[in-house]
Amino acid sequence: MTLRNTVLVAGSANLDFVVRVPHIPAPGETVLGSNFLTFPGGKGANQAVACARAGGVPTRMLLALGADDFAAPLEQSLRQAGVDARVVRIADAATGVAFICLAADAENAITVAPGANARLQADDLPDLSDTSHLLMQLESPLEAVTGWALVARNAGVRTVLNAAPARSLPAELLAAIDVLVVNEGELAVISGESGPIATAVERLGKANVVVTLGAHGSCAHIDGEWLVQSAFAVDAVDTTGAGDTFCGALVAALAQGHGFAVALRRASAAASLACTRMGAQAGVPQAVEVEELLA
Ligand code: ADP
Repeated sequence: MTLRNTVLVAGSANLDFVVRVPHIPAPGETVLGSNFLTFPGGKGANQAVACARAGGVPTRMLLALGADDFAAPLEQSLRQAGVDARVVRIADAATGVAFICLAADAENAITVAPGANARLQADDLPDLSDTSHLLMQLESPLEAVTGWALVARNAGVRTVLNAAPARSLPAELLAAIDVLVVNEGELAVISGESGPIATAVERLGKANVVVTLGAHGSCAHIDGEWLVQSAFAVDAVDTTGAGDTFCGALVAALAQGHGFAVALRRASAAASLACTRMGAQAGVPQAVEVEELLA
């Protein structure tokens, strides 16, 4: 029997074009920015890098790239982090890109052109015989994500969905998810309830829901019990990828057999450290840095 110890992340990879701005431009406004930089990003790839850097579990990723010059830095970043990348090459699509305005207060505004990411399909999912957890986001086609979740569920793989960017979910997909991770805004969209978090979580009717709360940390409703985890106080310079770092580190801890309380603490420490550095994948801390913060 094959040992089920691998995390598979199925999702997006984008090259991030980042410009620092004094404030996020309002509609119709032009803002003079500075420091143009490019960074490997995309929710799926960010989460795969965060899972691999957390250590302790082999990490694989299913992604789609175009045949252009933007693909190579994305593959290299995954390789350097130790992610086993399964690339679907789409010859007639552009590699995904994201345009990020990063404001002086560390807030951001992001526009994504999905390109090849939009061409991933349900039957691209690799063999799951050594997979313990499947981690997905919503930067891939909804039909593909739903197909992956159903196949994984049937194969005895624990399914985790970071429902970002938020959109209303088909009941079939929601039913096939074991662990849902959302921020407050995403929770409101998915549950259709913009009131208190507890009411929105209850309305979802899911056994395991994790809600991230930015600098306020996170909470989780696990089998009817609430867990609360504060954020670690840091000087935030770039919160891009904080949520992704949280998701990757959370799943790495769960896949190592930890319970949700430990997993939330590790995820919170990793995400807080990620806020202190520029770049989504570039900002993901190493396991040793997380251990130091937790010591
Ligand atoms: P998203 O980026 O998906 O909206 P959040 O903003 O909720 O996600 O952030 C995810 C996690 O990152 C939080 O639960 C927290 O642990 C950490 N985090 C985010 N912002 C900060 C901050 N300013 N200081 C410390 N930790 C933060």
